[in-house]
Amino acid sequence: MQLSEKLNILAESAKYDVSCSSSGSRRKNTPGGIGNAAAAGICHSWSDDGRCISLLKILMTNDCLYDCAYCVNRRSNDIPRASFTPRELADLTIAFYLRNYIEGLFLSAAIRHSPDKTMEDMVEMLRLLREEHRFNGYIHVKAIPGADPLLIAQAGRLADRMSVNIELPSERSLHLLAPQKKRENILLPMGQICQGILQRREEKRRYRQASDFVPAGQSTQLMIGASPETDRQILRLSQGLYRKFQMKRVYYSAYMAVNTSSLLPVPGGPPPMLREHRLYQADWLLRFYHFDAEELLQDEAPQLDLLLDPKCMWALRNPEIFPIEINRADYQALLRIPGIGPTSARRIISSRRYGPLTFDSLKRTGAVLKRARYFITCQGKYAGGRDFDPRRIHGLLTAEETFAQQGYQGIQLSLEDLLHQETPATTEKKSPSVILSRFNDLPSVTSAILSPLPVTDSPPPASGPALKSPLMLPVKGGLLSHEGFSL
Ligand code: SF4
Repeated sequence: MQLSEKLNILAESAKYDVSCSSSGSRRKNTPGGIGNAAAAGICHSWSDDGRCISLLKILMTNDCLYDCAYCVNRRSNDIPRASFTPRELADLTIAFYLRNYIEGLFLSAAIRHSPDKTMEDMVEMLRLLREEHRFNGYIHVKAIPGADPLLIAQAGRLADRMSVNIELPSERSLHLLAPQKKRENILLPMGQICQGILQRREEKRRYRQASDFVPAGQSTQLMIGASPETDRQILRLSQGLYRKFQMKRVYYSAYMAVNTSSLLPVPGGPPPMLREHRLYQADWLLRFYHFDAEELLQDEAPQLDLLLDPKCMWALRNPEIFPIEINRADYQALLRIPGIGPTSARRIISSRRYGPLTFDSLKRTGAVLKRARYFITCQGKYAGGRDFDPRRIHGLLTAEETFAQQGYQGIQLSLEDLLHQETPATTEKKSPSVILSRFNDLPSVTSAILSPLPVTDSPPPASGPALKSPLMLPVKGGLLSHEGFSL
């Protein structure tokens, strides 16, 4: 088989893995133009210092022993199969690098012959790149579950980042949909990589010359929507992974139906992209805003609200905390206010040294006032309308989000559409009446979006009940609900 043919097959097979960041662009080359962002094979990731780097994203082989129900490369699928030898792939990577097509490599593999043989080939390929070609670019490599720990350790010394994909958020789903995979075969290499990173960090503190081990950390991927786990289960699992294995990132991948199985959602529906987006937002709250998964979602309300971001959702379920006086709140309290992030919270605290903040000066800290105004007072003044009523604020914020979501999907929706038309507001299949029914008083909601709310003199008392149950849309899944992974 020609090398170019292998490249096409194995780059195409790698595209469902999102555990390296990808641009997701659909732009194709045009006659007379150069470049093609839609072609499989090149993805983009971000280095620690914020640079965007292009990676060759490829499988070493798609010839798989296993038969995971959700995977395009599963043994029972009749698809073209190909495998690179370590030398072929090392030479190809260098050729791409020298032509400036890529700055690094994202390498994964299906399980060919055995986990050990697959990992051995991957390690050999990395060795050729690092030692023969003296390649110092970024390499992200998958650890193959079940491979010998010695091979994992060798890969860790050669790669910048490693990942072991969990894919399914509970042991039961793993058992049903990927029966040849074992929980311990996934968690053991994660633990080994974590130990290696911590140990090497300690060695580096003592001897600056100590060699690297997975210096860019480890990541994993969870599939969303292939199985019925709730957002609460998924977030609790992510939190456990961050805490126990020092994950750099947990990636969420909206399930795309490529196979049919009675255990999977029926093919044909759109992938749950909005749910994936909400999980990324909630994940951000865990990592940078000191939220706990248990605070965000409880047993009685286990799903994120698809129509509102998780921070607003949390604030509206805890109205007794709001509104918060911006001139007195400490850093942790500021972080809890929707529209205020770590940078604006730090700026607010340092600005207060020179005098109390007003709504105008608050804008200069980078706070998003159109959101924050419902949850704060500034020198005792409130700009969120008549009072702090969670239901009213939920309606206003949801209407704002609805407009924003049209941009997210590339759909233009006018105010007129929102008022009168049958237009879906998210990628989840639903009618607009689901959205519109939430606005009891739609004309006043839309006019409130369009005009600034008046500033009132005294902080209003919270009125109306907290939003204890989420206003949410159904989540698809092929199985009955069950408990998550135990770490
Ligand atoms: S092990 Fe499972 S998920 Fe991985 S390539 Fe094979 S069939 Fe696909």
